[in-house]
Amino acid sequence: MRIYDLPMERLKSTDFHIHTSYSDGRNTVYEYCQRALENGLEAIAFTEHVRRNLTYDFSELRKDVFKAREMYKDLNIYIGCEAKVLDLSGSLDIPNSLIGKLDFITAVFHSFRYHGKEDYLTALRSMICDPHVDVWGHPTLYASRMGFALDRDEITEIVELCIENAILLERNIKYGLPDCEFISIALETGARFIIGSDSHSIEQLPTRERIESEWELLQRYK
Ligand SMILES: [Zn+2]
Ligand SMILES: [Zn+2]
Repeated sequence: MRIYDLPMERLKSTDFHIHTSYSDGRNTVYEYCQRALENGLEAIAFTEHVRRNLTYDFSELRKDVFKAREMYKDLNIYIGCEAKVLDLSGSLDIPNSLIGKLDFITAVFHSFRYHGKEDYLTALRSMICDPHVDVWGHPTLYASRMGFALDRDEITEIVELCIENAILLERNIKYGLPDCEFISIALETGARFIIGSDSHSIEQLPTRERIESEWELLQRYK
């Protein structure tokens, strides 16, 4: 089942964006699971940074997740990844061997080597139409870093494409993105959101109340 089809109740009690010590995070899968239970979360998702040439052994991370599922029966544990878009055709920086082995793929823009809004929109459309992608992570972060904004029509077009392709939009707690205008257009258009903390340590892992307050915030912008 694609995470797009998870029931709303599950979406509302899950943190969908976590980094562990396999990449630039500070804690282990087990430490996060323990903290997630203490924080009252129903589910968490590990979304480690990936590259075509991985700097760590992804199969070790998978093993940790499988073991954690045995240890923490009251917690639903998903394994995804955060892969960046590389070019205008939306190619992802991810090893082919991982595709199909994850619960979901979050695609993002980090150090995208093209410039300007038109290139960004072209790459974004390609990424959204990639059937392997499930989530657009920290939407518009790249645009705001590059100093341009999407107008109402552009946001509407992109959001419609996300809906057509069953792409979830992430409300990213770390960056506070996307902004209220984007959220309001997206919800009006009928897009679906998930919440991602982008935690790099257990101290950053949100409580259930924090996740719920993010949902309330989304509703306020509707
Ligand atoms: Zn990121
Ligand atoms: Zn991240």
